[in-house]
Amino acid sequence: MPADVFQLADELGPAKVIHVHEPRLGLRGVLVVDNVACGPSIGGLRMASDVSLEECARLARAMTLKNAAAGLAHGGGKSVLFGDPKMAREQKEQLMRGFAHALRNEADYIFGPDMGSDETCMAWIKDEIGRAVGLPREIGGIPLDEVGATGWGVAHAAEVAAPFAKLELRGARVAIQGFGAVGKHAARFLADKGALLVAASDTSCTLHDPAGLDIAALIALKDSGRGLAEHPRGRKLARDDVVGIECDVWIPAARPDVVREDNAGALKARLVVQGANIPFTAGAERMLHERRVLVVPDFIANAGGVICAAMEYHGASQSTAFQAIEENIRENTREVLARARREGILPRQAALELATERVKRAMGYRRHSLTSSAPGHI
Ligand code: NAD
Repeated sequence: MPADVFQLADELGPAKVIHVHEPRLGLRGVLVVDNVACGPSIGGLRMASDVSLEECARLARAMTLKNAAAGLAHGGGKSVLFGDPKMAREQKEQLMRGFAHALRNEADYIFGPDMGSDETCMAWIKDEIGRAVGLPREIGGIPLDEVGATGWGVAHAAEVAAPFAKLELRGARVAIQGFGAVGKHAARFLADKGALLVAASDTSCTLHDPAGLDIAALIALKDSGRGLAEHPRGRKLARDDVVGIECDVWIPAARPDVVREDNAGALKARLVVQGANIPFTAGAERMLHERRVLVVPDFIANAGGVICAAMEYHGASQSTAFQAIEENIRENTREVLARARREGILPRQAALELATERVKRAMGYRRHSLTSSAPGHI
């Protein structure tokens, strides 16, 4: 009995762990389908040399909870293809196609892009087995980073959360760490709601202007491949100074663990809306909670990307997808923050409870949740 595999098992999953090995191609991969009670799992294909089975299972679980929290009829899964993502294109295509082909009958897993894979990879997989999201526009995809699906959701989460933090979004001062696909669109959509961007950062610097930064100019600068340090206006500070900027709303949209116990005290905002994944340590979130800084957790606030992907899979247009993101994220943010306030718990705890309850309720409707639909009803 392979006891080590079952060490990963708990009351939610994983439902299946599949190893794929094709020595002739040098193909080695793993698929973890965590839970499919809500529907077929969606989760990224990560191409990397150093992801453990345990990490893959943790990422699959994160997708189960994120998809359930977002109210999607999809479970969570994750796949890993071992190798250097920068390998020659022909070899990468061969491995991706081989991996997808080996998993062609695993209808309960829908491939999506992740680190080391992109829309071209998803197009190969779609061509191979007909099941992938995050596709190029030419074959029915919605380019979610180009249109700002996640930033759209972050802006709506901020709008719903503002009154919980006793803030008015109109006129609120916003600081954004990371001015990439998530950050720049969040800035744009928040400005449309009357907020003022007073600081933005990237790897080159923190740009600060209490009177408000020119968002269109900053987006044009970044889209031309340059850094914020090249913007002619505003005060240039060190990259990490964005943490201590005087503002009302702070949005991490860069890297994990940027706010920790050692720098959480510097944060001056009353509301944090997490665009990045796990940007704060658990200890930092507890410290901020004690200081009454409201933190909308990542898997509630940044679910716009996965909602967009699910809508794409079901053939929706970009405008329908945006409508779904707005509705889902507004409702979930409201529900999580109301529960957190009612029960006196951290919003992250409230979000985890909400997602877990949804998965368990869905499991309760099923004879078993090993497949997302009864045989013959796929
Ligand atoms: P991106 O690469 O487009 O942008 C990241 C930006 O952050 C870049 O401008 C980069 O210069 C900047 N940056 C990197 N390190 C920094 C640092 N230490 N300090 C300040 N700025 C820094 O990436 P993205 O797609 O916008 O993703 C950002 C985060 O959001 C990641 O954690 C990602 O996992 C998460 N996320 C993204 C999406 C999505 O739809 N793209 C969805 C959910 C979560």
